[in-house]
Amino acid sequence: MAQARSIRPDRQFLRQASHCGGHFNKCCQCATCVSACSLSSVENSFPRRQMLLAQWGMKDELMADPGPWLCFYCGDCSRLCPRDANPAENMMSLRRYLTTQYDWTGISRLLYSSAAWEFGALALVAFVVWLLFTLPQSFGFGLLHHSTPQALSTVMLDKFAPAAMVHKGDLTLALLLSFLLLTNALRMFRFLTAGRKIPLSAYAAELRELIVQGAFQLRWKSCDDRNAFKNWLRHFVLVTGYATMFTLVVVFLPWFQIEDSSFHWTSFLGYYATAALVIATLWIMADRIAKSSEMHRFSHLSDWLFPILLFLTALSGILMNLFRIAGLPMATYVTYEVHLMIAVPMLAVEVPFGKWAHLVYRPLAIYLAGVTQRARSEAPAGVAAAGAA
Ligand code: SF4
Ligand code: SF4
Repeated sequence: MAQARSIRPDRQFLRQASHCGGHFNKCCQCATCVSACSLSSVENSFPRRQMLLAQWGMKDELMADPGPWLCFYCGDCSRLCPRDANPAENMMSLRRYLTTQYDWTGISRLLYSSAAWEFGALALVAFVVWLLFTLPQSFGFGLLHHSTPQALSTVMLDKFAPAAMVHKGDLTLALLLSFLLLTNALRMFRFLTAGRKIPLSAYAAELRELIVQGAFQLRWKSCDDRNAFKNWLRHFVLVTGYATMFTLVVVFLPWFQIEDSSFHWTSFLGYYATAALVIATLWIMADRIAKSSEMHRFSHLSDWLFPILLFLTALSGILMNLFRIAGLPMATYVTYEVHLMIAVPMLAVEVPFGKWAHLVYRPLAIYLAGVTQRARSEAPAGVAAAGAA
C-alpha cells in the first residue's frame, strides 16, 4: 500500500470540502459509490478514495490525485450512498479546493473563501475599466467625450472607443490571463507527476487525448447517467460560444467592432457566439433554479456568478448593437462601457482564478491520468510492482 506522505489537516480544505452538500465525515467506506460510478477504474478509483483522503486530511495525496477532475458530476454515487454523504458534491468541492491550491498567487483562495472578496475583485476590475474610459476623456487624451455635442449628433463608436486601442487592451489582457492560467496549470502538472518516472514517449502517445478532451470533453458522454448527453451538449454549446466570442474580440476586433451596418463574415460568428451564450447560460440557470438534476442540487456562489456574468456580457453586447443600429449615441456609449465593465472583470477573475479554469485543469488531469497509466503498463514488471507497492 502506498505510504501516506502527510496527514495535514487544512482548515480551508475542510471548509471547502464540506461546502454545500458534501459530508465526507458521514462516509463509512462501504464503496457503493465506486461500483455506481461508470467512470471509476482500478487505476483511478473514485469517489470513495477521495472521501477517505478528505476524512483523514491527506492534503498531499489529494494534490497528487487526478480523481476529482475525472468525475463529471452525474450524481449516481450520491443517489446510491446509504449514508447521505453526497460523494458527488464532495468531488465538486474538491475541484474548487484544488483550483485554489494550483493558483500560485493566492487570489483564488481568497475569492473562494468569501463572497466579499469575489464581489470586491469584480468591482475593482470594473472600476479600473471605468477609469480607463473616464480619465482619457476627462483629460482630452484622444477619446471622444460622450456628452460633447459632436458625440451626441451621431453614433461615433470608433472615436469614443477606437477599435485599435481596445484591441491592444484585449491582447494585453489575453496575454496576462494566459500567463496566469498556464503557470497554474504547470503547478498542477508538477503536483500530479511528482515522484513518478514517466518516459517522454508516454507523454507523446497520450497527446491526442489531451487535444480531444480539451476540445470536446468526450469522456463526459461515457457516463451512464441519462442526462449525460444533454449536459455535455449544453457545455459544448457554451464553450464554443465563449471561445468564438473570445477569438473575435482578441484576434478579429478591428473587423468585428464596426461603426456602420456593413456586413463582414465575422458577423456570422458574432451571431452564433451571442446566441450560444444566451441559450446555454439561461438553460444552466433554469436548471439550477429548478434543481432538476443532481448536478444542480447544490450551488456555490461561483456556480451562479459565472453563468450570470456570461449572460450579462452577451445581453449588454446585444443592447449596445441595437442602440448603435437605432442611431442612439448616448445609449450606445453607455452600454458599451457597461459591456466592458462586465466582460473584463468576468475574464480577469474567472479565467485564471475561478470556475473557468476547469476547462484547462480537467483535460490536463485526464491526459496525465492516461500518461501515468501508460507509463505503468509499459514499465518492466519489477519496476511496475515496486511502484505499486
Ligand atoms: S460516500 Fe457513501 S457510498 Fe461512498 S463509500 Fe462513503 S458511505 Fe459508501
Ligand atoms: S458524480 Fe458520477 S462521475 Fe462523479 S464520482 Fe459520482 S458517479 Fe462518478
